[in-house]
Amino acid sequence: MKALVKAKPEEGLWMQEVDRPEIGPDDVLIRVHKTAICGTDIHIWKYDDWARKNVPVPLVVGHEYGGVIEEVGRDVTRVKVGQRVSGEGHVVGEKSRAVRAGRFHLDPETKGIGVNIPGAFAEYVRLPAFNAVPLPDDVPMEIAAILDPLGNAVHTATAFDLVGEDVLVTGAGPIGIMSAAVARHCGARHIVITDINPDRLSLCQTVVPSARTVNTASEDLRDVMAELKMTEGFDVGLEMSGAEPAFHQMVDHMVMGGKIAMLGLPAKPFTLDMGTLIMRAITLKAIYGREMFETWHKMLAMLQSGLNLEKLITHRLPASEFKAGFDAMKSGKSGKVVLDWTDV
Ligand code: ZN
Repeated sequence: MKALVKAKPEEGLWMQEVDRPEIGPDDVLIRVHKTAICGTDIHIWKYDDWARKNVPVPLVVGHEYGGVIEEVGRDVTRVKVGQRVSGEGHVVGEKSRAVRAGRFHLDPETKGIGVNIPGAFAEYVRLPAFNAVPLPDDVPMEIAAILDPLGNAVHTATAFDLVGEDVLVTGAGPIGIMSAAVARHCGARHIVITDINPDRLSLCQTVVPSARTVNTASEDLRDVMAELKMTEGFDVGLEMSGAEPAFHQMVDHMVMGGKIAMLGLPAKPFTLDMGTLIMRAITLKAIYGREMFETWHKMLAMLQSGLNLEKLITHRLPASEFKAGFDAMKSGKSGKVVLDWTDV
């Protein structure tokens, strides 16, 4: 089968012919239809320090996908051949306390599809049947391909109650935009999203027209708050950028007792002003992955009840044109880039 492989310990990815994965008694084999490129895949493409430490070479990469079950292992009963699915990319063990308590996303032994074990940028991917998530008929395959990052957005946005709250999102990358869309769907009042990249802000305006986008390089958040007649500050913050200045700015514009969910991964350690956090009684919550499988349930339910992310997909390409897809992602101007694997 064709697959996109980290074949050499250097920059790039290579389309190669590799063996179709063999499945075990508890696995499914999925015929991949659509995949999406993640920021993680860009790290792997560039082969930066993180990728060097974490990604074995050679490896089939990719973890955002939708497809159809082609084959099921001997002991699989929950899903069947021909079923449309996406899948949780964290493959967990069965030993840790977290797993035994049903908190699968907190398993320290987790292995990542397309990061530590063979991934989904291929015609076929092997997955434990446990991880397969059946798709409702009305969720299209290209949306299935972005459920993994949407899960991060939903997990972050549902960390705190948003009904009637004023929400500040820092970082208008695809997951930031998704989280703004989810906040709107969940009944937030004002949603303000900041970035310094005008292309991302204008994409956000297209996907979530009622969000107030703010380019913090040229506009002051205080002015925006005044315009929205917000007197005290934001009730909930969703930190999606991993950028230190964005985090400080968020803390400075929260209400007393405000709550912040943090997903954006900083590239290096940064300073917390503990005095300010304490004196303002701020709650910080770190978000990792998706809850298996409560987040999946919630996001599929939201997609079925009007959450619309079609416009977030800015590029639809055949998998053979993956280089153009990666270039679009690296430009910082794209939304989600979806590759089609049905005709490679
Ligand atoms: Zn991803």
